[in-house]
Amino acid sequence: MDRNWMRKSVQGLTMYYNPTVGDALRMDTNINVLGSNPAAEAYLKGIAIDTNSYPNTYSDGLRDALADLYGLQRENFVAGNGSDEMLNTAFTTFVEPGKTSVTQPYPSYSLYSYFTDLASGKMREVELTEDFQLDVDAMVGKGEDSRGVLIMPTPNNPTGNCFRQKDIEEILSRHEGIVILDEAYSEYARWTMIDKVDEFDNLIVSKTFSKAYAMAALRIGYMASNLKVAEMLNSVKVPYSLNKISESAAIAAVKDQSFIRRSVDMVSEQRPKLAASLKSLGFEPYPSDANFILAKAPIDHAKLVEGMKKRGILIRDFGSKRRTENCVRPTVGTEELNKRMTDAIEDVLAEEK
Ligand code: PMP
Repeated sequence: MDRNWMRKSVQGLTMYYNPTVGDALRMDTNINVLGSNPAAEAYLKGIAIDTNSYPNTYSDGLRDALADLYGLQRENFVAGNGSDEMLNTAFTTFVEPGKTSVTQPYPSYSLYSYFTDLASGKMREVELTEDFQLDVDAMVGKGEDSRGVLIMPTPNNPTGNCFRQKDIEEILSRHEGIVILDEAYSEYARWTMIDKVDEFDNLIVSKTFSKAYAMAALRIGYMASNLKVAEMLNSVKVPYSLNKISESAAIAAVKDQSFIRRSVDMVSEQRPKLAASLKSLGFEPYPSDANFILAKAPIDHAKLVEGMKKRGILIRDFGSKRRTENCVRPTVGTEELNKRMTDAIEDVLAEEK
């Protein structure tokens, strides 16, 4: 067997980021540095579960909790195994193999092109402007492109900034096809468009429990859209994909928002301090609305990331990619973690100079 046996559209795929971790401090995946979600942890400690029954087919319990949280209906939601599964579901629903164009900004989340290949869509990357904002006309496109699927995250990963609401709304009005707004980091920006799902016929908002909710281990994500689109998505989604334990933990977490508020407040306080420390070490940090900062490094990016790894801290390397040349993307930590990180950076810089 060689790769020619694979479906053509997936032959070019390679495995995802999977570093050797050991007991390294992970400042490379933008998780919540405050640790486990307390409400989810409390649920998991007292867990007693009948393993011999399926979870609810469409995670009605979690969809009800989300409906309460956002003032929407259960039927506005689709829930599943991480927002990666949700994005895959949206692509499977709306991408016609070999035909549909999938528009995404560049630079952005690398898995969008992976999902495009899985769905055999035609990827169309549109450059962000100099200040990493949307080029609205180019994003909307013409003809078939404007009837395709359009996906964008806000705040954007890896650049960290939010796109302008007026640009997103203009795209939603002018683009005829589905528009997926990936809000994986939106809690940190204190801003969501989930309340607009009934206003726009073509809007899907995708969200995750992996970041501000501190529940990446449990793999929970969801989408919200108007009732018609949500019904389409639910008819394509793999039934039972959200297991019972994760669903119950997510319900507990939704009902206790105090931890989310504390996490977001911590990031708001620490983000400018970390940016200032990085600047004083010779980095050029970009403005961020998320829980990470993209920053141009003062020495070779690969040497910096390797030096940090030797000191037990992982940060993400974007330095070999166009538009993020020589950039790294550390997660924003607590005061103590940021100090540990910047002390280690200082140490690497001293060694390399
Ligand atoms: N969207 C963006 C922009 C992300 O950065 C990530 C996580 N790296 C995801 C989606 C996927 O999140 P999940 O863990 O819910 O699959």
